[in-house]
Amino acid sequence: MIFIKSAAELEAMRLSGALLARIADKIRGKIAVGISTEEIDKIAEGLILQAGAVPAFKGYGGFPANICASINEEVVHGIPSRDRLLKDGDLLKIDVGISLNGYFSDCAFTIALGRVDAGRRRLLETTKRALEAGIAAAVVNNHLTDISWAIQSYVEAQGFSVVRDFVGHGIGRSMHEAPEVPNFGEPRQGPLLKEGMVLAIEPMVNRGTWEVRIQENGWTAVTRDKQESAHFEHTVAITSGGPEILTK
Ligand code: MG
Repeated sequence: MIFIKSAAELEAMRLSGALLARIADKIRGKIAVGISTEEIDKIAEGLILQAGAVPAFKGYGGFPANICASINEEVVHGIPSRDRLLKDGDLLKIDVGISLNGYFSDCAFTIALGRVDAGRRRLLETTKRALEAGIAAAVVNNHLTDISWAIQSYVEAQGFSVVRDFVGHGIGRSMHEAPEVPNFGEPRQGPLLKEGMVLAIEPMVNRGTWEVRIQENGWTAVTRDKQESAHFEHTVAITSGGPEILTK
């Protein structure tokens, strides 16, 4: 069942999303060559707790950190580590979620460190635009998979592939609610989008094959061909005035 948020719930989600956007900006500002992904996690934890919010990822299904930090061929769910130092040319994905007053928000971004090659830059830009294309399709009376198709068709036209094993999701009083929001699929399928739905839309785009495997830590997804991956995510409300990005 897809929850429709009331005006009051949407207002609470706006506050949660706006706070997460500010936190994500601050995290982004601290990212630099030479620091470890564990340091970024500590910074994130401090920012979230200081703001009176709760880190949504920590302990979720046993996840050990406040953020996911995935580098290069790591797609999602990278575990921050003191041994993972950021290097010149890395493509880093940060995924972070919070709850504020019981309402969740979720976002992710990719950052290119230092001198990143043109292929990696194009992958990053394509993924950012794929998210924009998905958001543009998140309008009342579209079908759910119009979002999916907008993302897949854009990405594949650029010569990249979309990950199938992980999808976006509804979000609200839980981090993961119905419906699943795939980044692939034929248009005009699935439920009609209605005012008051809130979705985390999150294309994961690979340079080579869309196939991934899970590392031995049980969490981190990496591309099967070890080529790079990029990820952007926003929490988006469907309103009568069009899609409203809550985490911007
Ligand atoms: Mg998400």
